[in-house]
Amino acid sequence: MIQSTKDGELVIIKTGTPIDGNVLMWTTFYYCKGIVIDGGCPNTAEEAYKFVKDLGDIDAVVLTHHHEDHIGLAQILSNEGFDVYISKHSIDILRNPPDIPEYRRIVWGQPKPINALPLEEELNIKGIDIKVYKAPGHSKDHVVFQIDDYIFIGDLIGSLKPKIAFYSDNYSQILESVENVVLTLDFEKAYGGHIITTKDEIPLFIEYIKYLKNRIRELREDGHDTNEIIDLLWDRISEKVLMMEAVSGGEWHRRYLVETLL
Ligand SMILES: [Zn+2]
Repeated sequence: MIQSTKDGELVIIKTGTPIDGNVLMWTTFYYCKGIVIDGGCPNTAEEAYKFVKDLGDIDAVVLTHHHEDHIGLAQILSNEGFDVYISKHSIDILRNPPDIPEYRRIVWGQPKPINALPLEEELNIKGIDIKVYKAPGHSKDHVVFQIDDYIFIGDLIGSLKPKIAFYSDNYSQILESVENVVLTLDFEKAYGGHIITTKDEIPLFIEYIKYLKNRIRELREDGHDTNEIIDLLWDRISEKVLMMEAVSGGEWHRRYLVETLL
């Protein structure tokens, strides 16, 4: 399923897999002046391709990172001969995608092989300048793009107040990338895979992560182990978080927030 809106010259495209008619998880990608930024999930690749072809020329695809909810459309575009760019660290992963767990195959779809080119620090594609900034933390290969005043942050920030984390998340590194990379750039809005936020709102995220970091370290100094810290930090935890921890077999869990901020 696809939904789209516009923000100036930017087309914001949300895709997700309907299950019994409802989309449980959406992922967003973008089309800006002939450049496709990320690409939704494999389950919606065909639908996304038809949609983007009608928007205008496609000059290149740039990927913030290799996770399956960001690369769907790139599978088709690389087969059709379009240039797909990703961090050099992920070229092999895209070429030989590992089998993903069943819950991710249902929600997003199993990735197929993609031939990609390595990102440089700056790309110029048909007169469009794309600045590329390394921003590790959500994954090792993660980058942030800037095209004019638009900033594309992938999954570096998934929520301003995260209450659960993916096993590849390293929140100390995320904090560093947000403070030392994203906030040094000139922009108003930041466009991500699961959030659109503003430069003014991002300090709320930093404040929250620093609060967690201090609290986690205090609790550890008081002798609490990770499970006790989790219980003390989040005494009223939502059903959704508990469900994600169970359904994902622990790939999503609060412990990654705790362990990577210690
Ligand atoms: Zn991701």
